[in-house]
Amino acid sequence: MSRDYERPTVPKPYAFVPIAVPRKGETVGHEQILGEGYVSGRLVYQLRALTPIFVASGGYALGEDVRHKEAPVVRACYRVDGVPTIPGSSLKGVVRSVAEAISPSCVTVTRLDRRLVPHQPKRRDECQPEKACPACSIFGRMSRMSKVFFGDARLARGETQLYHLPALYAPRAHRARATYQTKEGQFKGRKFYYHGRPAEDPQQPPVEVIARGSLIRGTLSFENLSGAELGLLFFALGLDGSIVLKLGGGKPSCLGSLQVEPGQVEVLAPDHFMQAGPAVEIYEGDDLVAFIGEKLQQALAERLILKEQSSALRKILGRHHLDERECPAGMY
Ligand SMILES: [Zn+2]
Repeated sequence: MSRDYERPTVPKPYAFVPIAVPRKGETVGHEQILGEGYVSGRLVYQLRALTPIFVASGGYALGEDVRHKEAPVVRACYRVDGVPTIPGSSLKGVVRSVAEAISPSCVTVTRLDRRLVPHQPKRRDECQPEKACPACSIFGRMSRMSKVFFGDARLARGETQLYHLPALYAPRAHRARATYQTKEGQFKGRKFYYHGRPAEDPQQPPVEVIARGSLIRGTLSFENLSGAELGLLFFALGLDGSIVLKLGGGKPSCLGSLQVEPGQVEVLAPDHFMQAGPAVEIYEGDDLVAFIGEKLQQALAERLILKEQSSALRKILGRHHLDERECPAGMY
């Protein structure tokens, strides 16, 4: 291997959000009937692909079967009933990781030694159904089911294209101690990849991606969220306009940038369990903007959105990087 491959030539495509001290509160499940202050309903949204989106099916397809005759065989994008689709579970994972990072929540997704992750409770003090951090309350933990349900999001306008994804050499956490850990050995925080101008490597075999500019439609429903929890969810979707989500494969190469555009929110009346047909209030346009703003304010006021963490995240997931930042095409 030549020396060039041993030394990174570009800035790292990611940065860290400092880990917050978790704060547990009383939580309510979706099995109860709740009154004032708790919201159940549905958000209808579309995702705008700001860079190509690569969600792999896990298999290969003949180029001609996915309308890309120019390639004999491609790693195909995920489809449901023949329509390119982003699975609800992938979206939920991305939104949860943002919500966890900016709120006083515990770290749930880690393949790392928990003892080296700052502020984490001992096993016996982990989040429980009745007492949990904000992210565990909203997205579920152990026996507690999630109070948010993400449906699959299907391509509504746009198309797929072939993309030559660079083969990157990413250092593993245990081999790049200085990058991931402090001098004392503690992990620096939660890792997020920057947005940027996608890099391509014509030497690599093509994969099938959802093209930039495509629109992907989906809905998510929520039950028994407090106003502040709903505000945290809205922030984690990027609905305050300050962050763009990043999903799927090729993140270091700057693929996967998705802007969430809210269409409407339907809110069930607090006593909808008792009614024959649910009474629904619909927010659209200016009403929707005001509704989202009000919930964001509640989340800030109740410190479910933390200042330090949310501003660190904005610096990484801010939209401005899309035009400014170069992505690595080799070792980083
Ligand atoms: Zn938790």
